[in-house]
This record gives sequence, C-alpha cells and structure tokens, in this order.
Amino acid sequence: MAHNMREVVKTKESFFPVKKFPVTVIHIMGRRKSKRKPPPKRKAIEALETQFTCPFCNHEKSCDVKMDRQRNTGQITCRVCMEDFQTSINYLSEPIDVYSDWIDACENANQ
Ligand SMILES: [Zn+2]
Repeated sequence: MAHNMREVVKTKESFFPVKKFPVTVIHIMGRRKSKRKPPPKRKAIEALETQFTCPFCNHEKSCDVKMDRQRNTGQITCRVCMEDFQTSINYLSEPIDVYSDWIDACENANQ
C-alpha cells in the first residue's frame, strides 16, 4: 500500500496524471503476481493419499503411486508383493485415479 501511494504522488507531478495511471497499475499488478508463491500444502495432502490397499496381497497402504507429470504416466507399486501397474494420466489425475484404474484392470482380468 505504501508503494501504491508513492506511485500516485509521482504521477500527480506529471501534466497528464490520468494518462499515466494505467501504466502504474500494470506495474503494481506485475509486482504482486511475482511475489505470490504456490501454496506448499498440496504436496503434503498428496503424500497421504498415495498409499493404497493392494488388490493382490490385501496389505493396507502397501501400494505407492508415482505421478510422472512430464510423461503423463502414473505408476503404482506394491511394496509387499511387488505387483505394479502403469496407466496414462493427465494434469487433472490424482494418485487415487491411478489406483482405481488398477482396480478396474484387475477386475477386467478376472472376468
Ligand atoms: Zn501387494
């Protein structure tokens, strides 16, 4: 806010303060945007939701999901029986989606 006030005072010195004002606004907005940091909470939430019950050995929370966002691939591996599964993901996909894809694939295989 202090910065804002200083800019306004500066523009009043010029002959056409109204004309200069939008430039000042853009400048301030740009500064604000660069200061903003993404919330760090999201990662912690995801970490809690990447462990699932294995459909093969039925161990609870033995399956870890890895989201490869660059290759659009999700991989889930069971630490206990070493079963694994890969599926394609998109930017909206969550670890639970990889897990449910695995469950679906298991059900299809059993039919
Ligand atoms: Zn397992």
